[in-house]
Amino acid sequence: MKKALILGAGGFIGSHLARFLRQRGYFVRGVDLKYPEFSDTMAHEFVIGDLRDPLLCSQVLDIPFDEVYQLAADMGGAAYIFTGEHDADVMHNSALININISYQAALVKAGKIFYSSSACVYPEYNQTDPDNPKCAEESAYPAMPDSEYGWEKLFSEHLYRAFSRNYGLNVRIARFHNIFGPEGTYDGGREKAPAALCRKVARARNGSSIEVWGDGLQTRSFLYIDECLDGIRRLMDSDFPGPLNIGSEEMISINRLAEMVIDISGKNIEIHNIPGPEGVRGRNSDNKLIRKVLQWEPSLPLRHGMEITYRWIAAMVEKEG
Ligand code: NAD
Repeated sequence: MKKALILGAGGFIGSHLARFLRQRGYFVRGVDLKYPEFSDTMAHEFVIGDLRDPLLCSQVLDIPFDEVYQLAADMGGAAYIFTGEHDADVMHNSALININISYQAALVKAGKIFYSSSACVYPEYNQTDPDNPKCAEESAYPAMPDSEYGWEKLFSEHLYRAFSRNYGLNVRIARFHNIFGPEGTYDGGREKAPAALCRKVARARNGSSIEVWGDGLQTRSFLYIDECLDGIRRLMDSDFPGPLNIGSEEMISINRLAEMVIDISGKNIEIHNIPGPEGVRGRNSDNKLIRKVLQWEPSLPLRHGMEITYRWIAAMVEKEG
């Protein structure tokens, strides 16, 4: 039985990954500050602890796991990342986790380690045109991410690659582009655009309006969680160290995404654009490299995942009463 360690197993992607690996016959140990919010963990063992603490890292990574998935990070959506209010925490907390884990994984000779980087590493100057953003992997340099979150991700990519060169750590690095789906945070300030829009529409009365940050013409692409897990699996099964985009090329403006959610809800709701944190003007995954090295790209249209996600969030909102 293969052994996997998931760091950040109480989070959105980590909790889905625990289920995914368990269904494929893995022994799974999860670690997080908290248990998954919306369902029981599927990990065989779950350690509640703070990965900023090197002692905890040595305790949870005490055996040479076949696979280590490093997903733990201090992160959130635009309201958390782009207001500047959490910059020191984001950089300090996530960097400490990665410093501890890269060292400990090399020490115990972990089989393979997956590091979840982000599309936020890409330079702002390549993402000013909403119709034509450039996010090919090599375009990350000269570096100029638009957030401290992106700078930390870039630093940690280098950290894992340095451990790979100097200590033989077998690293796989993915840059996720806006992963969404059921059982993700949809309220409280850390939620991302798809979940926030679903919540707003689910709570809105027929005939009313919802607020959307910015002019709504800013563009993004979004990847459904099941496709993300498939991409992670393929990267881990390959010999390619990355970094590799794991995202969708189906770019859409935020207002169009809001219209899609409204259409799914069947309600009659207007969009009211207001000033708010937006991030870059345009961002889209560039899947040329992943198509070439893994012969993979997402297969589902955005609407498919949005329908499932809206239904889940609407049911949660309904329970709120
Ligand atoms: P998430 O916030 O749901 O999960 C991260 C988990 O890390 C949380 O459960 C949190 O409690 C845990 N954590 C934070 N600090 C910790 C600490 N000191 N000790 C132990 N656990 C700690 O985020 P997610 O959406 O599941 O993302 C997983 C990873 O993928 C993150 O590294 C994130 O930066 C990266 N990523 C996600 C997306 C996305 O769209 N979801 C996009 C790009 C990159």
